[in-house]
Amino acid sequence: MTEALELKSRLKDKGVFLAGGTDLVVGVAKGRLSVEHWIDLSGVPGLSYVREEGEELAIGPLATHAMLERSAFAPALAQAARTVGGPAIRNRGTIAGNLGTASPAGDVSVALLALDARIALVGSHGSRSVPIRDFFVGPGKTRIAHDELIQEVRIRRSADSAFLKLGKRQSVAIALVSAAVVRQRDGRVAIALGSVGPTPLRAARAEAHLALAGLAPEAIGEAASLVRAEVTPIDDHRASAEYRRAVSGVLVRRLLEQLAASSKPESPARA
Ligand SMILES: Cc1cc2nc3c(=O)[nH]c(=O)nc-3n(C[C@H](O)[C@H](O)[C@H](O)COP(=O)(O)OP(=O)(O)OC[C@H]3O[C@@H](n4cnc5c(N)ncnc54)[C@H](O)[C@@H]3O)c2cc1C
Repeated sequence: MTEALELKSRLKDKGVFLAGGTDLVVGVAKGRLSVEHWIDLSGVPGLSYVREEGEELAIGPLATHAMLERSAFAPALAQAARTVGGPAIRNRGTIAGNLGTASPAGDVSVALLALDARIALVGSHGSRSVPIRDFFVGPGKTRIAHDELIQEVRIRRSADSAFLKLGKRQSVAIALVSAAVVRQRDGRVAIALGSVGPTPLRAARAEAHLALAGLAPEAIGEAASLVRAEVTPIDDHRASAEYRRAVSGVLVRRLLEQLAASSKPESPARA
């Protein structure tokens, strides 16, 4: 790790951290990116782990989507990881790569945003922790300084969570819209969406409404219409903004209904 950071300090923008390469190599092959020096992190020991530590899950930067999909700690995270690409991409693509790419459609990034992840960054001047809400700045842009790398991602245990994605196919498909909801242990509900703005985004007004109104059917309906008003999608070759807006409401409504059903106390067994 120290050597990788020294190299980055020396090479500055000419050195690019390489994790699984599933975004970077495609970028180079398509001529979108030219790289003078790779700083390959895959040989750095101890960066590939998913570990429960009490009430937190600690995720190493080289943890792959395949590793995340096997973790039962946060269903939304496992479900999001399960939708990334196909098995080959999930075995190679990493959590830090998904965050570092900062695509508005990054599936795991959307789940982590709803889960209020904290991202530990380390650089030549020390370490700092950035809440994921402040991490994404724009498409392809993050708060990572030129001499820093993602050292670890942490989430806290929540009561329940779920993720849904609509793509053109069931697999190897970028999200037309994705959404994640999380019910915290204090009852607060978080909602994050992907592919409907310049970065993965939180639906703050819908969240505030649910904080007051709970998960009753009318409250869920109102939250879904607030989400439709909050998202800022664009038209592109995959879908129109209007379609994305409508689907945002549908996905959030379905997810909230799921949360409401799972939070109901079970009815007593009949004799
Ligand atoms: C066919 C195909 C299908 C795909 N499908 C999906 C999909 O369905 N959903 C989805 O979200 N993504 C998808 N992707 C994109 C990609 O697989 C994911 O974003 C993946 O998580 C990237 O991880 P990586 O390790 O390959 O990143 P890399 O390509 O190695 O790196 C990506 C970026 O992150 C930076 N980076 C990597 N590690 C660090 C670190 N520790 N600190 C700081 N910066 C770092 C790199 O410098 C680079 O800028 C797909 C890609 C392909 C090729």
